[in-house]
Amino acid sequence: MSPLLAALAPDSSLVAILYIVSFSLFIIGIKQGTHPTTARRGNMIAAVGMAIAVITTLCLKGIGNWGIIIAGILVGTIVGAVASKRVKMTEMPQMVALYNGLGGGAIALIAWSEYRHWVHLGDVLADKASFSHKFLLDFDNLTFLVGKNFSVSASVPLEVMIPTLLAMVVGSISFWGSNVAFAKLQELIPGQPMGLPGQKIINGLLLAALAVGGVILAINNDVNDLSQPLFIAMLVVAALLGLGVVMPIGGADMPVVISLLNAFTGLSAAAAGIALDNTALIVAGTLVGSSGTILTLEMATAMNRSVANILFSGFGSTSAGGGGDQEQRPYRSMNAQDAAIQLAYADSVVIVPGYGLAVAQAQHTVKEMADELQKKGVTVNYAIHPVAGRMPGHMNVLLAEADVPYDQLKEMDEINPELPQTDVCVVIGANDVTNPAAKTDESSPIYGMPIIEVDEAQQVLVLKRSMSAGFAGIDNDLFYNEKTAMVFGDAKSTVQDIVTELGNL
Ligand code: NDP
Repeated sequence: MSPLLAALAPDSSLVAILYIVSFSLFIIGIKQGTHPTTARRGNMIAAVGMAIAVITTLCLKGIGNWGIIIAGILVGTIVGAVASKRVKMTEMPQMVALYNGLGGGAIALIAWSEYRHWVHLGDVLADKASFSHKFLLDFDNLTFLVGKNFSVSASVPLEVMIPTLLAMVVGSISFWGSNVAFAKLQELIPGQPMGLPGQKIINGLLLAALAVGGVILAINNDVNDLSQPLFIAMLVVAALLGLGVVMPIGGADMPVVISLLNAFTGLSAAAAGIALDNTALIVAGTLVGSSGTILTLEMATAMNRSVANILFSGFGSTSAGGGGDQEQRPYRSMNAQDAAIQLAYADSVVIVPGYGLAVAQAQHTVKEMADELQKKGVTVNYAIHPVAGRMPGHMNVLLAEADVPYDQLKEMDEINPELPQTDVCVVIGANDVTNPAAKTDESSPIYGMPIIEVDEAQQVLVLKRSMSAGFAGIDNDLFYNEKTAMVFGDAKSTVQDIVTELGNL
């Protein structure tokens, strides 16, 4: 290793300053990520912070194995770069699940490696002990204990053992849970809730086993022949718990689960940071843990469900877009030409985007339609529901991609009071987030979820391919409302047809 790279002592003030700079950039990045105009810059700033943290860590004294490190960086860079170009916006939740799982898995392995480091110290000492008599050494906070029969072990300080165990357990749960979430969303396994009979009891027993194992290791904190297999057994039990908790959750609720597991990974990283005495890891992990927790709670609130209900209710057993048998009720449909005429003669139009807009990738065409309408003097705004699509901010990201002006994006609470005065609401690929059953039908699984009150507008156009249900798998009364006209077809081609018709008017 180059002497230049080996220059930094882990406890030097330069390292402390570089870490403070890096996590200050994380915080600025997260803050900027809270608004669409600054989110892209925020991402770049946080990435620079991460680069500083990684380079600083790689320059610490004692970092070796450059072949492995460079190979890891190369593989990670190639996979990350290819994935960022190829993955579709609708597949973003599973990509986050996969990356989050890798983070959790990495932390679990770091914890294991840290533990093995103590095992190695014990082995070294055991070799030395064979040449000497009874002795006790204590340096650098390491206590090497020599027993009566010259058996030797390295004792792990409690302040290292507890965070190491936490990092290993939570990281392992997060890795396996996130991989199940990825497999369900990618439809590699069925999205339906799955699990063994009495899964909740089994999960409770696994959790109890982890607690007992943790207490045993913490009390007998010397590394010996018994503690090593116990540590590995806990790694396996945590993996089973990760699988056992996420398998019974329906694919539909996976985005919330991913956000929760993301918070778990953050906490495990913070615990690993404490074990390794690495400030950057502690702060970065805490930031991920707290922002993941806030996001989980916000998503649950936006669906009017508790996190416990999401984790244990088995809701979302229908896969997204699943329709089931719908009751045959009369509804009105319209072609693109009539829809264009209705829109062109309106004074105000509110566009309500949903998951189908993302599937159809209709954002650019929708912007063209809005531009055409504005040329005709129509006021156009967009109503953004917090859980429209399949991830928080999904609609904001899509519409920002099409350069829709941010001042036209109205949050649900802001737009709802304006809807009774709106001439036409155009619902594009949205379903659940407009379903009046959330307000009126106490037996509905989405009862209580705040919605965009589209049924309050003067006229409603619903652009979707069929009468199928959305994510929650339930029928939508809005489609049968006398104010509503269904315009069937793929959102992108329907909107394109409307744009063409608007051009002819
Ligand atoms: P929904 O899933 O309720 O409905 C989407 C609709 O889009 C479907 O009814 C489908 O109908 C239509 N669609 C699909 N493809 C196309 C296409 N190519 N062209 C036109 N239409 C299409 O979406 P919403 O956005 O209204 O609601 C989001 C749901 O996801 C909520 O239930 C929310 O709770 C849930 N959720 C959201 C999360 C988030 O963070 N955003 C996280 C977890 C869950 P058809 O097949 O007839 O075309």
